[in-house]
Amino acid sequence: MDKQQAQEKIAHLSELLTRYNHEYHVLDKPSVPDSEYDQKLQELLKLEEEFPELVTPDSPTQRVGGEPLEGFQKVRHNVAMMSLGNAFNETDLHAFARRGREGTDKPISFVCELKIDGLAVSLTYENGKFVRGATRGDGTIGEDITSNLRTIRSIPLAISEQGTIEVRGEAFMPHKSFLTLNEEKEANGEEPFANPRNAAAGSLRQLDPKIAAKRNLDIFLYGVGEWENSALTSHSERLERMQELGLKTNPEWKKCATIEEVIDYINYWAEERPHLNYEIDGIVVKIDDLDQQEELGFTAKNPRWAIAYKFPAEEVITNLTAIELNVGRTGVITPTAILDPVKVAGTTVGRASLHNEDLIRAKDIRIGDTVVIKKAGDIIPEVVRVVEEKRPKDTKEYHMPEVCPACGSELVRLEEEVALRCINPNCPAQLKEGLIHFVSRNAMNIDGLGEKVIIQLFQEELIHTMADLYRLNRDELLQLERMGEKSVTNLLEAIEASKENSLERLLFGLGIRFIGSKAAKTIAASFETMENLQNASYEELIAVDEIGDKMADSIVQYFSEQEVIDLLDALRELDLNMEYTGPKQAKQDGVFADKTVVITGRMESFTRGVAKELVESMGGSVTGSVSKNTDILIAGEDAGSKYDKAEKLGVTIWDEEQLQQAIIVRSELP
Ligand code: NAD
Repeated sequence: MDKQQAQEKIAHLSELLTRYNHEYHVLDKPSVPDSEYDQKLQELLKLEEEFPELVTPDSPTQRVGGEPLEGFQKVRHNVAMMSLGNAFNETDLHAFARRGREGTDKPISFVCELKIDGLAVSLTYENGKFVRGATRGDGTIGEDITSNLRTIRSIPLAISEQGTIEVRGEAFMPHKSFLTLNEEKEANGEEPFANPRNAAAGSLRQLDPKIAAKRNLDIFLYGVGEWENSALTSHSERLERMQELGLKTNPEWKKCATIEEVIDYINYWAEERPHLNYEIDGIVVKIDDLDQQEELGFTAKNPRWAIAYKFPAEEVITNLTAIELNVGRTGVITPTAILDPVKVAGTTVGRASLHNEDLIRAKDIRIGDTVVIKKAGDIIPEVVRVVEEKRPKDTKEYHMPEVCPACGSELVRLEEEVALRCINPNCPAQLKEGLIHFVSRNAMNIDGLGEKVIIQLFQEELIHTMADLYRLNRDELLQLERMGEKSVTNLLEAIEASKENSLERLLFGLGIRFIGSKAAKTIAASFETMENLQNASYEELIAVDEIGDKMADSIVQYFSEQEVIDLLDALRELDLNMEYTGPKQAKQDGVFADKTVVITGRMESFTRGVAKELVESMGGSVTGSVSKNTDILIAGEDAGSKYDKAEKLGVTIWDEEQLQQAIIVRSELP
């Protein structure tokens, strides 16, 4: 390649990578898989190595991450937050070790850590208090996301360390939270997140901390920007000390004396990775000694003393033989690709959700295509792209049907939704899915009434609505296959027992749009009876903490439907409990649940009495003096002896601002 050609190629790759970076780091919405990005970046690096005079300061090889979003305060990092160089194989790892050895005088040793796939954040503590949390941004300027980070329970708001300490880590969304979130999004007709990383980043970069609070995020800290009062000499000692201070580190890190040991560690985790309940995309290898780190220093973008080994993306090719349409309980139609079964990342995959028509269109997926499959976030099978060269001649663009595959009524696309919906309230597929939800564990919790039995009851036409469940009799049930005397007795007892459930279970079981089990609990605790709720106005609903306009609208709309009024009348006749019998919501779920709290000193926004009421309303018990049983001391100005005692006993100390934050997010916390 001559210089002119290289210049053109470099310009093209830079433009492409800049766009991918923006989509990934700023919009949290990548359009290509990471492997494709990595491969293009390597291509660019190689060209720039060959033609160093063509490297520009704004080349994607020289820049970290993306620019901060508008709407957040900007934070300047005192010590830049860097990216990491990549290694893709053993040769790269050996080369990294060689550069390390050559760059320092003494022998080197390593620390290996899991490379958590989330959002890099920095946490600053001043004299023991968490004062600021920020994203990495472009490495120099990040976004102030303190309020969002405060909602992550594993981030301590106070630590016993004086001076300034700025630690870095990865905020992430555990697999389970990710799956639940995407299920909810799909049921609500919203676009699901592509992977847990985007979900975590998307949640932390919301202006409203209530959203982050709901998302069950977690954090692992793995590095230090500044540590004013530390004389530690190695990275491993820092990790240990951080853990002691309550700054959560990942427990799987390991010291390795040689690069061979590093490779063993990598191979071990390549196998074990599917068993973790969070996403990792590689292994980070760091030179342990801090003096050696300093000696080696940095390139424009990366430290020379660390490298990220990237696991190869496991992508496989198979045939897409059909597209199946499923009608969910909220009427959303979800297309699913039916695949010739193939093994990907440890399991056999025969189906992959295609989510919605837009996605099928964007990837131009057709029945009969050969497709590339991977597991997004290593858990969810996903069609990455079509292998166009292998497309049979006679394929046709795929179009979603205009009518519901289950009941034949016309499908609609509601405003601002990506999903198509069947809005026929009597659609049998929806009724069936609705019933499966109704009896499920977080709803009416009817033992012995799993999905299979519901489908059987449906097929035998023994049930159509939720009320029919309570009309089932022994003789009918005995006629069903695989139903003996004993199971029928148990089932009837379980159905009968469910009539006593507290209101929130019924409310969640009804499957009102946007009302998850937690919201159902709050609503039940606030309105106490179904009747009150049926009569509640939009204004009354919105006045409840945690109930936003979407929820309030949805509730009002739901209870105005004649079918709903009839259903609730029928359930009442059948003796179902329609009252809230649980404890007060706040006590059970509050930020201070089971915590003993002492309040002292003068506060600007609250009198001591008000603060006490607030803490109690969030589940805490307030006592007068500090002892080893005290969990939290909330200290205003001039706190005096209680403060000293709490400090001595290692009791967590909060200031007024932390109390205020707790109030903002209180009932949102899990
Ligand atoms: P990186 O993800 O390769 O490595 C650096 C980051 O690793 C750090 O900033 C930190 O956040 C993280 N990390 C996790 N665990 C760590 C640990 N134990 N110690 C140190 N760091 C740890 O680099 P990057 O600059 O954040 O982004 C590049 C990544 O983003 C690549 O994976 C790339 O594939 C992906 N990307 C994808 C697209 C796309 O369009 N798909 C676009 C841009 C970037």
